[in-house]
Amino acid sequence: MNSVAIIGAGITGLTAGFRLHRLGVPVTVYESSDHAGGVIRSLRQDGYLAEFGPNTLLDTSPKIREIIREANLTNRLMHSDPKASNRYLVRYRKTIAAPSTPAAFLTSELFSPAAKFKLFLEPFKPRWHNAYEESVAQFVLRRLGQEFLDYAIDALVAGIYAGDPAQLSVIHGFPKLYALEQKYGSMIKGQILGARERKRRAETSKQDAQKLSFDEGLQVLPETLGHQLGNALRLRHSITLARAEGNAWVVSFDSPQGPGERRHSAVLYAGNAYRLADLKIGGVTTPDLKLFSRIDYPAVTSIVLGYRRQDVAHPLDGFGMLIPKIEKFNILGTLFSSSLFPNRAPAGHVTLTSYVGGRRQPDLATKEAAELYRLVDADLRVLLGVTGQPTFRNCIHYQRAIPQYEVGYGQFKAAMDDLEKSAPGFFIAGHFRHGISMSDSLVSGYDVADRINQWLANLKEA
Ligand SMILES: Cc1cc2nc3c(=O)[nH]c(=O)nc-3n(C[C@H](O)[C@H](O)[C@H](O)COP(=O)(O)OP(=O)(O)OC[C@H]3O[C@@H](n4cnc5c(N)ncnc54)[C@H](O)[C@@H]3O)c2cc1C
Repeated sequence: MNSVAIIGAGITGLTAGFRLHRLGVPVTVYESSDHAGGVIRSLRQDGYLAEFGPNTLLDTSPKIREIIREANLTNRLMHSDPKASNRYLVRYRKTIAAPSTPAAFLTSELFSPAAKFKLFLEPFKPRWHNAYEESVAQFVLRRLGQEFLDYAIDALVAGIYAGDPAQLSVIHGFPKLYALEQKYGSMIKGQILGARERKRRAETSKQDAQKLSFDEGLQVLPETLGHQLGNALRLRHSITLARAEGNAWVVSFDSPQGPGERRHSAVLYAGNAYRLADLKIGGVTTPDLKLFSRIDYPAVTSIVLGYRRQDVAHPLDGFGMLIPKIEKFNILGTLFSSSLFPNRAPAGHVTLTSYVGGRRQPDLATKEAAELYRLVDADLRVLLGVTGQPTFRNCIHYQRAIPQYEVGYGQFKAAMDDLEKSAPGFFIAGHFRHGISMSDSLVSGYDVADRINQWLANLKEA
């Protein structure tokens, strides 16, 4: 039989299912919602393309291109416009381009002379062998000082995690940054010297990776993978129980046709941490899954607004802007979506994608759509010189958006390792184990497919 049950049809579960399918292993992908792709949501409406979840897929690993090629999507792939390379940060209640060269850094008004001097001292600061796990804020304060924390890192953490640097763990949330200090003694030295090693491993850093999407948005990828899986993808099937029976696993589900169950040789959990906490696992003794309910996923609402180009004064010549907490706006960050990729807005119009909520202001994300349109529009007026009324508005509320890899996250990773050891044939992959980005999730799905394939091969030989 050797079939695999995959729980969750986000990009992790679909990549794993697609790869196993290509390797000749039968799979069934169970998804409780009515669509494939999880948090990835693209909508074409009134000539706009609204992207509510991830906006870009970072090309960090050759495995990403391989999946795209095997899904026959190469001709629909889009690369972000190289002209949209500026990244803006907000200070003094205005957008300032983040410096991208040492010369631009020296003359930038973003940081004071004292803060700049601290950056130049960074390579000379000693490597610290911590007796305790540091937060991102503690790490940055120690190496770069308060101003970098307040005006750069706070905004960056909001843009990536919708998180709080004082809570986020540096070793779990930014493991590569942490490793740079441990290996090279300095982030700056490590950035330079680490580039050679990445080249050898054919990897690209997130900072240097190309930003990808598809002609009709990122949802093209999960939809295509789901389509190629055909009947093996079961939407509206919510898995409630996975039970080990000898060498087999029986999964129980609720579906519109009523409850049911099916036998498989292995199970991959590619859902969310908080739903793993509610899953029942029978036939083996496992760690207490309730632990996973403690991983915080703060609410985020994505708001997509369209404007006439002439009603936005800002050149929008970049990726977007990130806003530090200290500047006291409602928005965490805004992507200049129609500058990044073509056909995101009708001719003479622009699309701006803003995020609110997160760890910084979770209650804001729960406000009514009309109120959020008003608050976001008000911020955009100050920051981007918007004058006219929006020509397009839409939003999606993510009640639980992005897992926070906070200080102490190691206990959850250890519990996942223990769970796999105590339940042979039960695997876990995805955004709360191997990194939160879409590319991390895709690679996590790819790698777990290979692990499962190997495990099944060993089972056959035994
Ligand atoms: C607002 C937002 C913006 C983002 N922006 C970016 C970005 O710009 N760039 C980037 O790289 N990343 C971004 N991310 C992160 C990235 O999109 C996600 O981490 C990634 O897509 C997660 O994929 P996944 O498959 O692991 O999980 P999910 O997409 O969460 O999918 C899990 C699926 O499992 C299903 N499921 C769970 N339990 C069960 C069960 N018991 N039975 C059946 N089905 C179940 C769920 O319904 C869900 O569909 C963003 C995320 C959000 C929310």
